[in-house]
Amino acid sequence: MASHLAHIYGTEQDRVNCSFYLKIGACRHGDRCSRKHIKPTFSQTVLLPNVYNNPAHTAEGASMNKAELQADFDRFYEDFFIELCKYGNVQEMHVCDNVGDHLEGNVYVRYEWEAEAAKAVDQLNNRWYGMRPLMAELSPVSDFREACCRQNELGECKREGFCNFMHLCHPTKQLVSSLQASQRISRRSNLANGGGEGPAQADLGWTPSSARLEGGGGWQAPSDRNGGGRRY
Ligand SMILES: [Zn+2]
Ligand SMILES: [Zn+2]
Repeated sequence: MASHLAHIYGTEQDRVNCSFYLKIGACRHGDRCSRKHIKPTFSQTVLLPNVYNNPAHTAEGASMNKAELQADFDRFYEDFFIELCKYGNVQEMHVCDNVGDHLEGNVYVRYEWEAEAAKAVDQLNNRWYGMRPLMAELSPVSDFREACCRQNELGECKREGFCNFMHLCHPTKQLVSSLQASQRISRRSNLANGGGEGPAQADLGWTPSSARLEGGGGWQAPSDRNGGGRRY
């Protein structure tokens, strides 16, 4: 890139690259965006779009109080964090609270190494969660402070869930520190034992591969999902 163009790369003034895609990993125009969404070949960040089904935004959640909603999210966060640790050293994991299609329930995870993120994308694309196949991709997002809505952090965002910057669901602080601590301990003992897989996760939303072969609720297999929409 010519040096006189370098300072506008990925900004509003960049007429070629979509600043939303580069900063947030998703843009409301999707594939129809007039600017380019160039998927990175290497990245430490993985995006799993539309995974957390936040009851706060559904009818069933209307009867839940704040503590119940927080407990639901903490369960999800813990479940995902533990699973994502199987592919590498998780530096941070964030879940969007937005309700716009391109951001709703998005999970972002940043690994220590690009190779770990690549492995996570490979393997997560064969996994199901909440009766749906996961779609993982490498994401250009590197700075989550830049991706998040500042007004929302001050409690002043007028667009609320329809904002095009990230509004995050916040896990309980204690949960995050205990997950990070247990990741450190299990990485240390894994290294001492010469590696090996973590314990199998059979609970919550993870669909075991055996169950998904028996019909899987009408969703197509991840391997042929390029063919288009759902198959009934
Ligand atoms: Zn775009
Ligand atoms: Zn906002």
